Amino acid sequence: MSDSSDSRKQHRFKGLTINSGTVNGKVCLYSAERHKAIPQYSLPTESSVEQELKRFDEVLVQCSLELNRIASDVSEKIGRTEAEIFLAQKHIMNDPKLLASLRKEVVEARKNIEWAISDVLSNYEEKFANLDNQYLRERSSDIGEIRRRLLSRISNKKIGFICEGQSNCIQGENRIIVAEELTPDMVVNMNLERVLGFVTERGGITSHAAILARALGIPAVSGIPGIMDIVHCGDQMLIDGDNGDIFVNPDLQLIASLVPVEPVQSEAVCVLGSPAGTEVLANASTIEDVKSALGVGSDGIGLFRTEILFIKADRLLNEEEQYSYYRQIVRLMRGKPVTFRMLDVGGDKPLPFLRMRKESNPYLGWRGARFLLGSPEFFSLQIKALGRLSTEANIKILFPMVIDAAQQKELLEFSHKALSETECDMSRIEFGAMFEVPSAFLQASQIFDLVDFGSIGSNDLIQYLFAIDRTNELVSQDYNPDHPVLWDMLKMLSESAQKAAKPLSICGEMAGREGMPKKLLDVGIRSMSVAPRLISRVRNELARYAGVLA
Ligand code: PEP
Ligand code: MG
Repeated sequence: MSDSSDSRKQHRFKGLTINSGTVNGKVCLYSAERHKAIPQYSLPTESSVEQELKRFDEVLVQCSLELNRIASDVSEKIGRTEAEIFLAQKHIMNDPKLLASLRKEVVEARKNIEWAISDVLSNYEEKFANLDNQYLRERSSDIGEIRRRLLSRISNKKIGFICEGQSNCIQGENRIIVAEELTPDMVVNMNLERVLGFVTERGGITSHAAILARALGIPAVSGIPGIMDIVHCGDQMLIDGDNGDIFVNPDLQLIASLVPVEPVQSEAVCVLGSPAGTEVLANASTIEDVKSALGVGSDGIGLFRTEILFIKADRLLNEEEQYSYYRQIVRLMRGKPVTFRMLDVGGDKPLPFLRMRKESNPYLGWRGARFLLGSPEFFSLQIKALGRLSTEANIKILFPMVIDAAQQKELLEFSHKALSETECDMSRIEFGAMFEVPSAFLQASQIFDLVDFGSIGSNDLIQYLFAIDRTNELVSQDYNPDHPVLWDMLKMLSESAQKAAKPLSICGEMAGREGMPKKLLDVGIRSMSVAPRLISRVRNELARYAGVLA
């Protein structure tokens, strides 16, 4: 890869999107694994066994206190839900069964405590990592964190930045942190407000890396094994969190095309609002995203993804909890339109607490609209919580992964029935369908007869249209938003929406790519929803094109 002969050459690595956003910066390597050589020896006497157990008890107390401190720090810096992660780790670490196994290794097998910790916890970690249940599988990283913590404490070794102590080490400030996994120690040891991005070797979409990076709004990509050995502190790196790519030594042209530059006032076509006849809205997943959208004067929220709320809470929230969360968003937006998408789980976004069955093809399985119709209890709670907002605002509710008109009809019937059982003003609720499964495009006119608006989910559409996994690096060259077949589909849908006189917008990431706003206008799509930081770029491009047209 980056050998000395071509160290300046650009290299691309495909990972998994943990948090969207694009950033270019220098690398800082952070190591949590400093225990490759674990001391191993047999305890010769009864009294050395006693002493070893005493040493362990002391370390256990210190680590428990440390986890309490981390939890309260995280609670203050990030949130209470995220702090629970560390309290849960303390709980696992003090589990009587686990402690008994550790002590048994010392007393019966006469292993020194480092050896016992390493053996017992690595064993547990491996067992968890191989379980079918995704939730439990991801808990294996908790066990790994506990192992590292106990070993660090016992050996007095400090985990941290690889070049720590050297004069050029800047402790990750204004840099991209590259690590094996995002760990709690990073959360407390770093000035996260000054971290540009995260790249990790491990950690799935529901891992701590994902939860923390999203809560912090930091672009992040995970799932790049060996990256710690490939890059060095100070290497230039670009994270394209929207597509799950990282580039080592990115060339200037790539940086210019991917990293948004805020428009400068002197630019001839710098615009503040959206050009007449167009609308540029924001995609959001958190309250912070909504605030960013407001900050850049977005025309509204074109897609509020409700999944993150549940992923962060790690449990099913009741109607009241959901209602007060959604209400905050509507109130923040002060009358600007807000489109809430009903929970779109499955595929790359499983909800660990739902204990979903392992599927061999999750993208073709229990997800989106199918999940909603198959989970009436959940569907009812969420639609009621959203419907109640209509007593104080106009709201839009969007259904994900609709496959045809019959399914859309079922979704609406269920919604109307549930809403008839709660306080709401139906005249202020609009229902929409996401167009992201090709079969829905072929029934577009029947679907438009049923709904008030449509929204194109091009991320999934491209995946299903070209049979290409949006997260698989082996096939990423075929994930092509320029493909003429895609544009034929978009044109067909736009004509169908115009015929039915129903508004249509696009909320997939491609709308924010350079050159796309113009192409979308050409096929009659005038409403686009993109990440907040891309809003001014899209508006500028629309204005430039409108100027050419005028
Ligand atoms: C899409 O598929 O384009 C979309 C906006 O939804 P998500 O990326 O959340 O699947
Ligand atoms: Mg989608």
